[in-house]
This record gives sequence, structure tokens and C-alpha cells, in this order.
Amino acid sequence: MVLSAIHTQSIGAIGVDCIVSSLQSLLESAGLKQYSRAASLWLFFAGCGVLELCISITLGKFIEWWRPLTSWTRRNSVAADVTYAIFVRTVLFPLVAYFEFDWLRRGYEAFLLGHSIHPPSLVSLFPGLAWWPALAFLANFALLDLADYWKHRLSHRYGWWYGIHSLHHAEDQMTFWSDERSHVLEDAITYVWLIAVGVAIGVPSFQFPFLILCLRFVGSLAHSNTRIDYGWLGERILISPRFHRTHHALKAAGRRSCNFGTALPWWDMAFGTARFGDNTIETGDAGAEVVMVSGSWGQQQAAGFRRMLRLAHRGRKSKVVRTAQ
Ligand SMILES: [Zn+2]
Ligand SMILES: [Zn+2]
Repeated sequence: MVLSAIHTQSIGAIGVDCIVSSLQSLLESAGLKQYSRAASLWLFFAGCGVLELCISITLGKFIEWWRPLTSWTRRNSVAADVTYAIFVRTVLFPLVAYFEFDWLRRGYEAFLLGHSIHPPSLVSLFPGLAWWPALAFLANFALLDLADYWKHRLSHRYGWWYGIHSLHHAEDQMTFWSDERSHVLEDAITYVWLIAVGVAIGVPSFQFPFLILCLRFVGSLAHSNTRIDYGWLGERILISPRFHRTHHALKAAGRRSCNFGTALPWWDMAFGTARFGDNTIETGDAGAEVVMVSGSWGQQQAAGFRRMLRLAHRGRKSKVVRTAQ
């Protein structure tokens, strides 16, 4: 059992630790000894985030050029999406996906151990996974994706939540950049949600950021403006651009939506919300303010906030009506 734990630990952490230690030595030789560990961890994860973004851009641009689905005579500006994507990868992602996750995980495990409870994890539930680190990674990935499915589905259920989520749906020229369109409040909810699940299922601190990057990568490609087909089976294994475009269809904005998954369509299939074979081209949300589509980053965020308040108010009013009836 101890050997298994060491094995899993070594697979996931040795490579990362090596690179982080090299960065730390570099910083120390440059006279930056204080905080050099934290700075090198930050540099490493920000570097991974930027690398993932570069791969997404390269692949996204290529498939949109190779097999485009549609074209527009006048393109909406993606400046807000690009700016936010860079901010997320270099600031928010290392801060939350590594530092905050690690801090909370340590606190949670110390609390459980203080009460003589061994922290639960997938590997302790299924010890065989310790010898199959790739399988353990995939299992953690699938569980986080399941958590994200329910978070996304609920965000379409509650008016106030859809108000901020609708910033993501407002884009009427969906491309791989559209995955970056998100309200800061929604990102905060997403991180809290995924961190809580990650900590509860015992995801190692060095693994969590990579799981998040994998979700982002598949999510980016799923937003691409391309007619690339994954085939009957492929569409049921991994979420395709066609599958996710159905979620973004004009008629599917709000409560009547389907295809809520981020990376795996399995949860939509299991919970009866999957719709395959749809040929959606036009995307958007007719109820969104114009600035939510083509405004600056600040205007989009403010419009999302306003819509959240409006829909929350409307939700309260309809509840009062229902109670009165
Ligand atoms: Zn949605
Ligand atoms: Zn989307």
C-alpha cells in the first residue's frame, strides 16, 4: 500500500518537481532567494497555462481554416476574450488551481487526520489505480467533468445564475475563443465548485492544475467554428464542436438547453440531456444586451451583472406569484 502511494506520487510529481527546482535555482542564482519556491511554482503553472493557450490557438485556428463551418462579413472583436484568456492563464489559473487548491487540500486533510479520519481518495478506494496513474488521472478528470456538467446544468436552471452565464452564450460568432468568454463571478463559482470536488476525491495538488487545463483545452476546441466530424462513436466519447454548438443554439439559450457537458458527453447521455445530430450554425442569446456581445471586457462584465440582478428580481417576483396562487 505504501509502495503504491509512493509509485503514484512519483509518477505525478517527480517531473514537475524537477522543473520547479530548476526554476528555483535559477531565481536564487539571480539573487531572488526570498519567495523563490512560490515564484518558481507560479512561473511553472503560468507557463503551462500559456502553453495550453498556444496549443489551443494553433489547433483551433488550423481546424477553423481547414474545415470552417460558417463565415461572417464583419467579425466581432475578440479583444476582450484574448485579454481575459491571458489574464486567466497567467494570474487566476496558477493562483487558484495550484496555490488555493493546495492550501485548502492541506487544511482539509489536516482537519480529517486531526479527527483520526484518513482523507478519502480514488486511490484509497481503488488501490489498483495506484499502479495505473494515467487511469487515475482519467478517473479524476471524468469526475471533475461530471461536477462541471451539474454546475453548468444548474446555471441554466436558476435565473440569477443564467444572468452571468449568458455572457458566455451572448456570442453570435462562436469560435474557439468563445470558451474564454466568462463572467468573473461565474469563474469564481466554477473554481469553488471544482476545488471542492477535487479536494473531496483526493486529487493531488500537482495534478489538479493539469486536469483544469485538459478541461479548458477540450472546451476550446468544442467551441471551434468548424465542421470537423468526430464520427458516430467519437461524438459519444468526446464532446465535438457540433455537439457543443447545439448547446449554444439561439433556440437553446436559457432553460430549454441541452448538451451541458464540457469534455465528455457521457453525463448528457446518462441524464437525458444529450442531443446528437443537430446541425446548428447560428449561435447567441436573443435576450442579451448588445454590449454583452461586442462591448469591451468591462462592458460585458457589467452587462452580465445587470442581467443577473434583473433575472434574480424576476425570479423572486414569479415565486411570489406562485405562492399567492
Ligand atoms: Zn450554457
Ligand atoms: Zn460554451
